[in-house]
Amino acid sequence: GVAAVALGGIDITFHLADGGRYQAVKGIDLKVFPGEFVSIVGPTGCGKSTLLNAAAGLLTPSSGSVGIFGKPLAGLNRRAGYLFQQDALMPWKTALENVKVALEPMGVPEREADQRAREWLGRVGLRTFVDRYPHMLSGGQRKRVSLAQMLIRDPEILLMDEPFGPLDAQTRQIMGNLLLDLWSRDRKALMFVTHDLEEAIALSDRVVVMSAGPAAGIVADYKVDLPRPRDIADIRLEKAFHEIHRDIWASLRVEVQKAYAMGEG
Ligand code: ADP
Repeated sequence: GVAAVALGGIDITFHLADGGRYQAVKGIDLKVFPGEFVSIVGPTGCGKSTLLNAAAGLLTPSSGSVGIFGKPLAGLNRRAGYLFQQDALMPWKTALENVKVALEPMGVPEREADQRAREWLGRVGLRTFVDRYPHMLSGGQRKRVSLAQMLIRDPEILLMDEPFGPLDAQTRQIMGNLLLDLWSRDRKALMFVTHDLEEAIALSDRVVVMSAGPAAGIVADYKVDLPRPRDIADIRLEKAFHEIHRDIWASLRVEVQKAYAMGEG
């Protein structure tokens, strides 16, 4: 089949204010297929966000190609939904209004938009919070609103950049399970950036490890064959998990340690 996202030999160099250059990533080849949940892990600053930005069309690689369902990407990737680490909710709008905003460019009639936004807020467990403003919601609840805002447009590709980063471990786990539940019903191509290797293994079909920059590359690409549906809590607690995945776990740990060591050099 055709890849939802195909990064082919991507180099990305930033031009700095002082006239210098910084090559963030080099020679990245990565294909993500429809229905595939791919995690990207690696040390801070290795270029994970940069790769997502390239897939989103927010930046153009210095060389290499970005293909979206077999077509070269030009400008913004309109087939993708993006979820940032910091939620981008409008503080002057309620949860309901924030989710409805996502439908505005599509010209969905008001009544239908209202109904669909309520449905989505229900699906993410916020039925009774629709009229709250962002500052009246917890971090986890704001993430739920952001999830609903992304998913209501039904994008074919989901790009998620450390979406649960600032949350506590327990809330992270709950959000991970919510994401798994929503994603399992209607599998999309999902690129998920996380610094949590265990979370990556628990959630994904594949874990891609990047080395530290400059000129970061992909140093490992592992297939995870755990049965679905999965529950992160079970997986984390399951003693067999580390046994079964001892090899993958050990190799990934080594790769991640190597990647970090490169960053210190
Ligand atoms: P990660 O998401 O893995 O933490 P990023 O993709 O955010 O890393 O950044 C990769 C590298 O590129 C970092 O060293 C960062 O400082 C650099 N970088 C990112 N964006 C820019 C930019 N606009 N200008 C210059 N350097 C940048």
